[in-house]
Amino acid sequence: MEHAIETGVAILGGGPGGYTAAFRAADLGLDVCLIEQGGRLGGVCLNVGCIPSKTLLHAVAAIEEARAAAAFGLRFDGLAIDIEALRAHKAKIVGQLAGGLDGLAKARKITRLTGRGRFADGRTLVVDGPAGTTRVRFNQAVIATGSRPAPLTAAPRDPRIWDSTEALALPLVPPRLLIVGGGIIGLEMAQVYHALGAAITIVESEPQIIPAADRDVVQPLFLHVKNRYQIRTGTRVAAMTALAEGIEVGLTGATEATEVFDAVLVAVGRRPNTGGLGLEALGLAADGRGFLAVDGQLRTAVPHIFSIGDVTGEPMLAHKAVHQGKVAAEAIAGRSSVFAPAAIPSVAYTSPEVAWVGLTEREAEQRGLACVKGKFPWGASGRALTAGAGIGVSKALFDAASGRLLGAGICGSNAGELIHEATLALETGATAETIARTVHAHPTLAETFAGAAEAACGSSTDLLPARPRKRT
Ligand code: NAD
Repeated sequence: MEHAIETGVAILGGGPGGYTAAFRAADLGLDVCLIEQGGRLGGVCLNVGCIPSKTLLHAVAAIEEARAAAAFGLRFDGLAIDIEALRAHKAKIVGQLAGGLDGLAKARKITRLTGRGRFADGRTLVVDGPAGTTRVRFNQAVIATGSRPAPLTAAPRDPRIWDSTEALALPLVPPRLLIVGGGIIGLEMAQVYHALGAAITIVESEPQIIPAADRDVVQPLFLHVKNRYQIRTGTRVAAMTALAEGIEVGLTGATEATEVFDAVLVAVGRRPNTGGLGLEALGLAADGRGFLAVDGQLRTAVPHIFSIGDVTGEPMLAHKAVHQGKVAAEAIAGRSSVFAPAAIPSVAYTSPEVAWVGLTEREAEQRGLACVKGKFPWGASGRALTAGAGIGVSKALFDAASGRLLGAGICGSNAGELIHEATLALETGATAETIARTVHAHPTLAETFAGAAEAACGSSTDLLPARPRKRT
């Protein structure tokens, strides 16, 4: 059965980018149709990404904290893990948030369509769903179709080889789990499965885990996990064979070995969902990596077609998509909004957390920038020590001439929250001196960022002097 509807703005994809664009456009008085193939709003982030992973990480943090508390005299013996209850808890949180989005969409009188959409021409989307086919005529459209896990060419099809969606479903706790990719997903899932009892091996092709951040920022995490997991950096998977007793994996590079695992998680990045959308009917084409080029207002080369989120390129992060969604909706409503953030923060919600924003030291070197760096080890922070969080570092990089913050990296408890002081400082062009002179409450973890800025200014009273003082 075929239906036809007309709308002002058609939004293809109901993830954080798509639903934000829809809600903002509706708030600006536009008539909106939101098309989502999965039925539930929230996309990867809510359904099979950020929210379920953070729910699991919070749960396993309780296990780790209970174990660590033995060091200061608190013992919680007899810990029992009920995986079924953990799965149900995760599903409840996801369901609660998805229900909230349904309510927000309904209150805005947004037309919802369930199905897979494809452009038939510059003003029409054809949506195939459970209720049949719907032709949606629109004035403007937003492509917000997100991304999917990148496959590993060596991996055969086997239920014991998982992507992040399958790993988050917690199908079982494998005795031996190989994680291919030591990036954000790899390290977060390693933490979950290790706490639940799996022996973890991580294979990372680059020389360090979380290669996107500076090595000295990642180091506290590395020191924390290096004896818990087998970490094989500079190593790739050359071959994978499904055997009855497990998945046999041939490793090549810094480690040359053949090992058998009970399950394998492939977490080697993501690919944009730009195939099968009928882009050719619009006269649009994705680039070689599958991304769609956009201008500052998120317009594609076809001015009434916008694109936001993972399909527009790196970084593929929900918070980037959300901000782009707002700008696209405002541009459609005729406003002059532009998406031009000074920087977008990244966070790995590991224990300790790793967060970074702006330029890394490596990127500053590659650009030939003259920089001044300040570092504050958390072992010198009273708050960190009282919270059992003495493993950590706050680092800040400033332009040598102007003193302005260029980038920052923080590793430690709550780094994902603390990084926003640096993000705001970057956005407002704050200097090392401004940050150092901003009064931070004592004792807090936030003092460590001010301490890094002070160190960059030449002297931090909480640290040893930069140069030993000669007695006169
Ligand atoms: P990633 O890019 O963070 O990490 C992938 C890692 O795999 C990299 O370190 C890369 O060097 C390595 N790698 C690539 N090919 C390899 C190979 N053949 N063998 C061994 N190692 C290989 O990607 P991800 O962890 O898969 O995450 C995907 C996306 O989702 C990223 O854009 C990430 O930012 C986003 N994400 C964000 C969060 C968060 O914000 N906390 C959480 C999960 C995912």
